[in-house]
Amino acid sequence: MDTEHAHHAMPRVALYARQSVEEDQGIAQQIADCEEEVRRRGWLVAGDPYPDNDVSGSTTRGSKTQWAKMLKAFDSGEFDVLMVTEVDRLTRSLTDVLDIRPPRRDIRVVTVRGGIDTEDDDYMLKQLVLLAEREVKIKAQRAARYARERRRAGHPSPGKAPHGYTWVAAANRDQASTRYIIDRDEAVDVRQIFKEFLSGSALGQIARDLNTAGRATRKGARWHTSTVRRILMNPLYAALLPPTQGGASFDLSSIDLSACTAGAWEPLIERDHLVAARDKLVGVKANHQGTARKWLLSGLAICAVCRQPVRSARGTTHPTARKDGSGTAPSRSYHTYRCVNGHFMRGGGIIDEFVSEVCISRLSKPDTLNLLAPKSDTVDVRLLHSQRIALGNRRKSVLKQLAAGRATDEEAEEALDDLADQLRAVDSEIARAVAVDPLAELVDIEDARAWWHDEERTLARRRTVVEALMTVIIHPVGYGKRVTGLDAASEAVEIGWKGRAR
Ligand SMILES: [Zn+2]
Repeated sequence: MDTEHAHHAMPRVALYARQSVEEDQGIAQQIADCEEEVRRRGWLVAGDPYPDNDVSGSTTRGSKTQWAKMLKAFDSGEFDVLMVTEVDRLTRSLTDVLDIRPPRRDIRVVTVRGGIDTEDDDYMLKQLVLLAEREVKIKAQRAARYARERRRAGHPSPGKAPHGYTWVAAANRDQASTRYIIDRDEAVDVRQIFKEFLSGSALGQIARDLNTAGRATRKGARWHTSTVRRILMNPLYAALLPPTQGGASFDLSSIDLSACTAGAWEPLIERDHLVAARDKLVGVKANHQGTARKWLLSGLAICAVCRQPVRSARGTTHPTARKDGSGTAPSRSYHTYRCVNGHFMRGGGIIDEFVSEVCISRLSKPDTLNLLAPKSDTVDVRLLHSQRIALGNRRKSVLKQLAAGRATDEEAEEALDDLADQLRAVDSEIARAVAVDPLAELVDIEDARAWWHDEERTLARRRTVVEALMTVIIHPVGYGKRVTGLDAASEAVEIGWKGRAR
């Protein structure tokens, strides 16, 4: 047998492998099976195999796939036979088969299992792919129908439950087939986030407090302004199932709450509280919420001279000679407040302590109930809700008129803009009505000192209390005069009581 003859007699085989989920084991096994079949037939493997990992058998394959590379290799004459383990590893779409079979190309396809060889019979391959294609279509229709029914029953799409809930697997569901159950531990974070935010804490502050308390997100990551914000915007916490959205990423801010379906799980948060939180956040960029504060009074106390909010800064002690003569002690860094216009910079620890003492003694007086802003009797939340529903219905009727051709685009747009304005107004009234007074939980506490120093208390909470009670004014004192005790602090710090705290 001469080499020229051998070249023609021995088909050069390209190996193709595919799976739709990333998993190397499956690909490696397919290639091993193909290689063994090539050996068994005494054929030759031509070049490296073409493994398409994480590529679907039913959707169009892009130019970056190994499939596309394989087609190019055939066009430049690199192989004669394409081998796969089974037909469905090749494709589940007839379009792909038309790419490799005449008239477009004449690639001979051989399978390890199922006995396909297009040299004998082209019909079987096409029939098998047609069947696979039909199966894919039926499965997709069935899945879409099931998803519609599931949504109508208020069940969320399968996947990860949001922080605060646990996803219940099909086998473990109750009679109502509930998908989300409350995760007691994580739910604490969600409730705290809403409570703090509606009491006036900034997003960054809430995140910082969670991190300080050693709380982590589901992934074990630190909390950020953005993750706190996503929690506050998420309708799932009020057991509201948002309408499905097209597009790759889910946009929380564009969800229309009136278009949500009632979810079939226990809410963690009242709907009004969610509306209030969203009302404060939608359309507001995350970084508009200010920076996180590490100290009680930064950004809160003001300079007595220029009335500007003070900043916190790091001060450093001068290296001092040790008493025992063993050289100098290293300089230490400590927390200070400073005026942005340079009117003073002084130790912050003692000022924080002083203001804390003033707050505790004010909250220990028997009249704390009087500190609360009176809940306006004129705000009727139920009435606001019925107004909300009425506005939603009018919106629907405008859309119907537009669809029926009884209104022009301009007329409809004007009416919808007007309705949106009214809806926003109602929402912010609801938000005001349900916003939590920062002092509310202090009304029935017996020990203000214990409350203030409780480890559970966050810096954000203490700051909202200071802010509700008073304006802290820091005075510059004579150069070189250090504020070291509470008495000295009382000279440097002036308390301007607010409204009902006077
Ligand atoms: Zn100043």
